[in-house]
Amino acid sequence: MNASRYTRRDFCRAATLAAASVPFLSPLSAPAVEPEKKLGFALVGLGNLSTHQIAPALQKTQNCRLAGIVTGTPAKARRWQQQYGIPDKNIYNYDTMVRVADNPDIDVVYVVTPNALHAESVIKAAKAGKHVLCEKPMEVSVEKCGQMIAACKQAGRQLAIGYRLHFEPNNLECVRIARSKVWGRLKKIEASFGFHIGDPTQWRLKKALAGGGCLMDVGIYALQATRYLSGLEPLSVSAVSSVTDAVKFQEVEENINWELKFPDGVVAKCQSTYGFNGLNNFTAYAEQGWWGFDPAYGYNGLHGRCSDGAEIALDNIDQFAAEMDDFARCILTNQPTRVPGEEGLRDIKIMMAIYDAARTGQEIKLT
Ligand code: NAD
Repeated sequence: MNASRYTRRDFCRAATLAAASVPFLSPLSAPAVEPEKKLGFALVGLGNLSTHQIAPALQKTQNCRLAGIVTGTPAKARRWQQQYGIPDKNIYNYDTMVRVADNPDIDVVYVVTPNALHAESVIKAAKAGKHVLCEKPMEVSVEKCGQMIAACKQAGRQLAIGYRLHFEPNNLECVRIARSKVWGRLKKIEASFGFHIGDPTQWRLKKALAGGGCLMDVGIYALQATRYLSGLEPLSVSAVSSVTDAVKFQEVEENINWELKFPDGVVAKCQSTYGFNGLNNFTAYAEQGWWGFDPAYGYNGLHGRCSDGAEIALDNIDQFAAEMDDFARCILTNQPTRVPGEEGLRDIKIMMAIYDAARTGQEIKLT
């Protein structure tokens, strides 16, 4: 393996070959659809992510358009209406959103509220007969995830979770390297994601709204990386959590480290924190070499390396635009999404086991 492996031409050839056998490796899971076919998206919750990422990304999509909004703040509704030309009839609050049922402009509801409020809006949207995209983490309990999946199934609508890195070329290339055993059999993964959290009054620090601390918010990316790199489901987990700022972290964990055992002897060591900046990486170790990214999970600027010094630097794309276009195409061509509710539920089950392991000090088996 040498640096020339990662020229654009070589990557394209490898990706095309891989896409034929392993669907996850293709950049999109659904076939292309004519750009004049566009599904109307309604965003629920107009906070940071909707404002700074999702709404701008919608303008770059081929098969989606920003058709409506759901917000509890009338002033925000007016601002968005002016900025994006949204008609009065497509503006809802959390109580009136059930009426999207009668609105043919809206095909997909994208839920971008605090974690513990996801189920409420997802279930309303499904009952209104809409397809649903829901931000990660899917919810704060296994039970609520089950209710969301059941509601969408019952309505005959698709439910996707906002796992944007499943559409990100650099992460996909790392999966290809693992699956095609470029460096031999995978043995170990290290993955970490954290940041220093500011405002002590925000919902992310309140258990009732966030479900947990850094693990639920960003540790989930490290967990995801171990699952998509290995292509395996963990058999057991052990974990330790800690708090150094007892005033700020009264309800949720500040730091958490966990270890996963996978089939075939593959192990993962992971870390997440709200205490400091800088953790944003994964490294996969195989028998003959390693490869990894630092940073690994951002919206852009991802940077990867292999043990022979080769860089992995494929084009950074708008991950939210890719995720939404893929979901629209899945709906338009009647294909299942690559990131269904069941995928979100698997992470919630594992994260609940990580919390159990940290609380009890026991290794928890995952069945
Ligand atoms: P935010 O606090 O900026 O926005 C949340 C929105 O929900 C606000 O508009 C707020 O008014 C609204 N809201 C409704 N009821 C609320 C209540 N009871 N308390 C607080 N807010 C309430 O949060 P965000 O960063 O936009 O995160 C929203 C969701 O998106 C979360 O689930 C988060 O995990 C997820 N997220 C995903 C990514 C990603 O990269 N995929 C990045 C950031 C956030």
